[in-house]
Amino acid sequence: TDPALIRNFCIIAHIDHGKSTLADRMLQLTGVVEQRQMRAQYLDRMDIERERGITIKSQAVRLPWAPVRGEDGAVGRTHILNLIDTPGHVDFTYEVSRSLAACEGAILLVDAAQGIEAQTLANLYLALENDLTIIPVLNKIDLPAAQPEKYAAELAHIIGCDAADVLKVSAKTGQGVEELLDECVRQIPAPVGNPDGPARAMIFDSVYDSYRGVVTYVRVVDGQLSKRERIAMMSTKASHELLEIGVISPEPKAADGLGVGEVGYLITGVKDVRQSKVGDTITSASKGAVEPLGGYKDPKPMVFSGLYPIDGSDYPLLRDALDKLLLNDAALVYEPETSAALGFGFRVGFLGLLHLEIIRERLEREFNLDLIATAPNVVYRVVMEDGTEHVVTNPSEFPEGKIAEVHEPMVRATVLTPNDFVGAVMELCQSRRGNMQGMDYLSEDRVELRYTLPLAEIVFDFFDALKSKTRGYASLDYEPTGEQSAALVKVDVLLHGEKVDAFSAIVHKDKAYHYGVQMASKLRELIPRQQFEVPIQAAIGARVIARETVRAIRKDVLAKCYGGDISRKRKLLEKQKEGKKRMKMVGRVEVPQEAFIAALSTD
Ligand code: GDP
Ligand code: MG
Repeated sequence: TDPALIRNFCIIAHIDHGKSTLADRMLQLTGVVEQRQMRAQYLDRMDIERERGITIKSQAVRLPWAPVRGEDGAVGRTHILNLIDTPGHVDFTYEVSRSLAACEGAILLVDAAQGIEAQTLANLYLALENDLTIIPVLNKIDLPAAQPEKYAAELAHIIGCDAADVLKVSAKTGQGVEELLDECVRQIPAPVGNPDGPARAMIFDSVYDSYRGVVTYVRVVDGQLSKRERIAMMSTKASHELLEIGVISPEPKAADGLGVGEVGYLITGVKDVRQSKVGDTITSASKGAVEPLGGYKDPKPMVFSGLYPIDGSDYPLLRDALDKLLLNDAALVYEPETSAALGFGFRVGFLGLLHLEIIRERLEREFNLDLIATAPNVVYRVVMEDGTEHVVTNPSEFPEGKIAEVHEPMVRATVLTPNDFVGAVMELCQSRRGNMQGMDYLSEDRVELRYTLPLAEIVFDFFDALKSKTRGYASLDYEPTGEQSAALVKVDVLLHGEKVDAFSAIVHKDKAYHYGVQMASKLRELIPRQQFEVPIQAAIGARVIARETVRAIRKDVLAKCYGGDISRKRKLLEKQKEGKKRMKMVGRVEVPQEAFIAALSTD
């Protein structure tokens, strides 16, 4: 295809603002899916099929479109629109940035009854950083609650255009979607590249398929990739044969090759997504390019948590499950870890909290594992007075001795909130050691607040606190922005004089006391009485900052059932046995699993 006829774009939208529905209308209007085959959320359903191992994910669909209106020569000429899908969540900022880098334009799709959300705003900023042409669009104008004029003004204010330039569509009825396709052709620049240079293609997604191995999605920048040639990954220098290359429209169709500006998929027989990394540059194995395309980064885990099987004999299952997940997730890292309290498990690194939750849920649902996860923590860099340095991913391994400085990761956070809650949001950010960077009225009643905050303060329960202080109206997005030194200390929790490693935490010194008191009293409620008294202490080094006691029991439970009712007695015994199974011994103290789970939950 002549690059002049190609337009590569994505849709930036908050969840539920209508991205899938708009994609449906586009598939229909461009004739890619016939009327009678059309079902709602066509591309999403293809993804579900893919999860069952049947089709290739519709990560980028090719839509032929001949503009209907306009005064230039484009009218009536068939163009190729490539719609590239972007992951929506903050944890995957890097993946989002690579999808955006594969595009020249972005449709900014906003629900006309809701207005823009923080996450959308963050992705918009990323798109602007990648120099994309933004087409602002309000969706759902068919809704009685739509306020297109109000939100058009808001969008115009944010991107600095005229409110009249904001397109208004209904993805549901199709109103305005044809005009939108025409505008994509008119406004989005055609890709530019050197057709005669050595091949360079950027990987913007890479997915493991149990039948075909890894399917890699690419955008060709220069030159040409042809089937059967040998290609090389520039970050690893590894070379592979191109077994298949093609485009998706909406089913995968093999092709002879892909040229400048084209978007499609390729298969090499690679079995593991880490050999085909998002952001990497693909070139020809012989006479390949020397300079990779810019922007490649190794995924860097930001949040760590210990994962332990509740039933210790599940440990090998957990290891196999993690190995399997790794095939499809280049960002996941883990290593074995032993905890005195929790037994054998793994220290697992994630991109963020959502990533953590996704992995945990997949382990529990797909692999049938019952897990305990320790409270998520960030990565600390500890500099000792003698100049040595430690990178701490597990709080219980925080070094003892003379510490000069502790550095913690910081984020740049954006909060969007209705005017009424500005005070509450500021108070919350302040209490989480935030530093205000700026504030902007998007419209009369909606405000954007920008803060830098320690990531550690966000991974705990910031989002829940934000939602409850703003009755659910505020939205949040954040991205990493380096590190900062802070007065951080390690708080240990001791049961009957023994440190419980799973409860060690790194906290700001001003919050250490509160943390210690809270943990001690929580544990006192959760730990059942034993035959002896159990002191619970929180300590910084040797200094005890909080203390509680679980008093000893006096009578055997069975004493309650005076002789007589044998079946009742048996029941009680069984119940006790059942309970015992889920106990962990910490030193001499029996602690029920539930106590760990409850104590490790963040509220
Ligand atoms: P996504 O999460 O951005 O992919 O959003 P969906 O396309 O799944 O849409 C979310 C909900 O909004 C669905 O119930 C859609 O039917 C509905 N929806 C999408 N576009 C429109 C529209 O133009 N008008 C109306 N009334 N509803 C819409
Ligand atoms: Mg969707």
